[in-house]
Amino acid sequence: MNIVQLVRPEPAASHAAGECVCAQCKHEWVGMAPLGVTQLECPECHTHRGAFKYPFGPQEGDESFTCRCGSETFFIMRKPGHANGTVCCRGCGVEATGWFE
Ligand SMILES: [Zn+2]
Ligand SMILES: [Zn+2]
Repeated sequence: MNIVQLVRPEPAASHAAGECVCAQCKHEWVGMAPLGVTQLECPECHTHRGAFKYPFGPQEGDESFTCRCGSETFFIMRKPGHANGTVCCRGCGVEATGWFE
């Protein structure tokens, strides 16, 4: 039985950082904001229409997991009667195991 561990033993992040883009003027910059903040002030036009491009996706230096089929999107689900949840690829439906080998 493989158990996919999604939580890493690190202190909880309090800030999100990454590439941002402004919906108003299309300015792009690298910004940081407390977690939960989704409307960022654009340094160019000073509206609050900026947003993280990839809110919680992998940043540079992070590992990300990709299915053999190329999909990076997974469902986490638990079938009726099963004690444990499974992580299944959204692209091909195969259960994702062995990510941490
Ligand atoms: Zn702007
Ligand atoms: Zn797949």
